[in-house]
Amino acid sequence: MNVMVAGGAGYIGSHAAKLLADAGHEVVVVDNLFRGHRRAVDSRSTFYELDLADHKGLTEVLSKHEIECVMHFAALAEVGESVREPLSYYENNTAGTVTLLQAMEAAGTRRMVFSSTCATYGEPEITPITESEKQSPINPYGWSKWCVERVLKDYTAAKPDFAFVALRYFNVAGCAADGTLGEDHRPETHLIPLVLHSALGLRDKLTIFGTDYPTPDGTCIRDYVHVEDLCQAHILAMQALEPGDTRFYNLGIGCGYSVSEVFDAGRRVTGRDIPVEYGDRRPGDPAILFSDASKLRNDLAWEPHYTEIDEIVETAWRWFKDHPNGYGV
Ligand code: UDP
Repeated sequence: MNVMVAGGAGYIGSHAAKLLADAGHEVVVVDNLFRGHRRAVDSRSTFYELDLADHKGLTEVLSKHEIECVMHFAALAEVGESVREPLSYYENNTAGTVTLLQAMEAAGTRRMVFSSTCATYGEPEITPITESEKQSPINPYGWSKWCVERVLKDYTAAKPDFAFVALRYFNVAGCAADGTLGEDHRPETHLIPLVLHSALGLRDKLTIFGTDYPTPDGTCIRDYVHVEDLCQAHILAMQALEPGDTRFYNLGIGCGYSVSEVFDAGRRVTGRDIPVEYGDRRPGDPAILFSDASKLRNDLAWEPHYTEIDEIVETAWRWFKDHPNGYGV
């Protein structure tokens, strides 16, 4: 299939482009390189430096390469930043997607696999979270993605030859098993990269945000899904799409690890000391977030390869120890 990977120079998009090319698809990457890295773009793909606001440029690329499906990863994804800069989030994540859809309409591209998020659930009342859980985001990031889900539903109702799947990610983690691609956010805020930076001595000490949660060890529990398993789910979803489909799936492994357990995994995998201090809760962090991903498993026969936190951290460590400066810019 001819696939456009929007945001294909970013952490998740670059892994998706690689796996798509491995599976024999023709891949076109578009990325504005605001947060992405040119070096992360798979060499087998055709690359265009383009912004989602560039309707004309997107339409031309979609038409020229006869793109059949867009995998849309291009987004800002920092909760704290979204609280400080909400307009950037609505502009890039929501309005940017509308422009992309308009370009797809102009070019006759009728399938989208959209990166949504468990942040659209806000603070869920019940865990594990199923797709029918009430969506009530608690920050602009979650709302900006929620808005896109709404747009996609309305658009497909109006144009039933269109089809989409929205994948609601839990905590995406790990790096390419062959060590060729990794995670390089600036600034880095995610737990596993921070733990590994700390193992490398790039940071003095990390803070565990909150030790008084109602969990067995008092620290927050999250559902860490390996980036390659996550990208395989995208490929399965793309292949399953039929005209008129409006699909929503949770994308996590269905079990959780606590923050303390992630630190312990980091120590076991690296064999190094990872100093820690205990701090206050981070505002807006629910105690326990993990998915019920049975819908995805049942509908698409998706099965995650990585379910143990040590294995996930191990793939990330392979990247970080060889690339302490990430993509090196
Ligand atoms: N966390 C932490 N210290 C840090 C970074 C993260 O204790 O320096 C915790 C955070 O409070 C959350 C978990 O680790 O409970 C995962 O956080 P991350 O930012 O990686 O992902 P999020 O769950 O916020 O999407």
